Amino acid sequence: MPNTILYDDGAHRNILLEDFDAGGLAVQANQHVIIHNGQGMILDPGGHKVYGKVLAETFSVLAGGSLRYLFLSHQDPDIVAAINGWLMTTDADAYVSALWTRFVPHFGLDQLVIDRLKPIPDEGMVFDLAGSRLVAVPAHFMHSEGNFHLYDPIAKILYTGDLGASIGADYRVVGDFDAHLPFIEGFHRRYMVSNRIMKAWAEMVRPLDIEIIAPQHGALFSGKEMVGRFIDWCADLECGVDLITPTFKMPAF
Ligand code: FE
Repeated sequence: MPNTILYDDGAHRNILLEDFDAGGLAVQANQHVIIHNGQGMILDPGGHKVYGKVLAETFSVLAGGSLRYLFLSHQDPDIVAAINGWLMTTDADAYVSALWTRFVPHFGLDQLVIDRLKPIPDEGMVFDLAGSRLVAVPAHFMHSEGNFHLYDPIAKILYTGDLGASIGADYRVVGDFDAHLPFIEGFHRRYMVSNRIMKAWAEMVRPLDIEIIAPQHGALFSGKEMVGRFIDWCADLECGVDLITPTFKMPAF
């Protein structure tokens, strides 16, 4: 699938990059780029199998502009694995939860670039991208213990990392929410940590003006009605530790 422009007002653009299939067992992953007045942020740039193609496409959509930020929603390899390459070939700063700044260097960070891996504090922060504000929204335990979503108030897009992820749906935008459920239910029941967390998140984001919820895997939710349905579904979902009852059992050995 080619690049998809999610928003473009001339000065501010949000682009979902072409789907570069990582192949084999590697999970499909979306790469999003936000550009404001010639400065860019890439979200969850991905691993080694797609690194070269995503880097080239990012420079292509920047069209002579510069990459200012790498936003890492959490520490998983499908997000972070190629971080050293990104820091070595661009001047961007990378941001990840303060919980993960001592773990990410294990992906092979060169001493030359290590100072450009920066912590996002637990309560979140606001990025300044050439004068536009992008908000790192706390979304801990969804699924990672140190986890952030990114809200873009100009495009009205909430980028939700693994929340909303679908595997196996062959479309880029959800058309029928109920028909989409089989692609998201199993993943969320296991990977999201608890209903208490899902409810807290739903309460936090419901007042936001959101036109698109854009996960890191699979299809996105577009339009106020679809966004509302997804938030309602999250608020009601039993998942994670809610379902691990009553206890673990030892396998027979
Ligand atoms: Fe993950």
